Amino acid sequence: MRNVVDAIIGEVYTLCRDNRAGALADYIPELAAVPADEFSLCLATSDGFVYEAGSSGTEFTIQSISKPLTYGLALADRGLEAVAEKIDVEPSGEPFNEISLDPVTERPRNPMINAGAITSASLIAGENPEDRFERLRRCYSTYAGRELTMNADVYASEARTGHRNRAIGHMLRSFDIITGDPDEAVDLYFRQCSVNVTCRDLALMAATLANNGTNPLTREEALAPALVERVLSVMTSCGMYDAAGDWITQVGLPAKSGVGGGVLAVLPGQIGIAVHSPRLDSHGNSVRGVQACRELSRRLELHFLHVT
Ligand code: GLU
Repeated sequence: MRNVVDAIIGEVYTLCRDNRAGALADYIPELAAVPADEFSLCLATSDGFVYEAGSSGTEFTIQSISKPLTYGLALADRGLEAVAEKIDVEPSGEPFNEISLDPVTERPRNPMINAGAITSASLIAGENPEDRFERLRRCYSTYAGRELTMNADVYASEARTGHRNRAIGHMLRSFDIITGDPDEAVDLYFRQCSVNVTCRDLALMAATLANNGTNPLTREEALAPALVERVLSVMTSCGMYDAAGDWITQVGLPAKSGVGGGVLAVLPGQIGIAVHSPRLDSHGNSVRGVQACRELSRRLELHFLHVT
């Protein structure tokens, strides 16, 4: 089996390697400066086997892939019901950074758009801002199975230019979705987006979700099994920006992507996949990330509705 999976990963890597389509995210100055041609692919099984191709040890910032993880910690801290009062679970079909709430419920439409993600950050428990970030950093590290750190340059770059996210924070405050200091919630969100990960880390995070919330290598629990289902559900309907429908028909896995070029996908009970390639399509998804996941899904028959 090992040889078969290694061969398929190698084949998909080679197939996608020369695809130079797409462009780097440039609305955060520091992201426009990353090496554009990085490419890695990693698959981790829910019992801890890891398959890698390319530069899977290169660090990049997690960006929006942090959103489901923070949402999970908010659920653990406040409970399903209290979180649902603040954040809905409906796909929005709008760009991730849309400055809007659902007109009827007056809540962010889901935790995968920025309004929902900033609300999740505002729900993280802790004594003070440092403590709240430290809890998030530790939580992400438990998913990955190693100590993760924050990229101070990316954080500073986003904090300097993130006016749109500040506008979203203040909109949330004016509708009483956030009840504390909105700038503090936005700052925590900037920090969480700036956590450095490798493609291997993302694959192990995905494998942790596939393994009902427990890291398959360290055996440490990152998220209670009862909450994993909720997190994977919103990833299924809302994880790939406004291309979620296309993704679910072609790849068929709960997933989340980030503007740093990472993509993480989960086949519950079985495997986690991660790809890193910084050139993005018009939706903000990694071009080679989408292509590699589509090819892997087809070759390994991973679509969750696939019947053999
Ligand atoms: N820090 C980014 C922002 O909110 C994350 C965006 C993303 O990965 O979609 O602008």
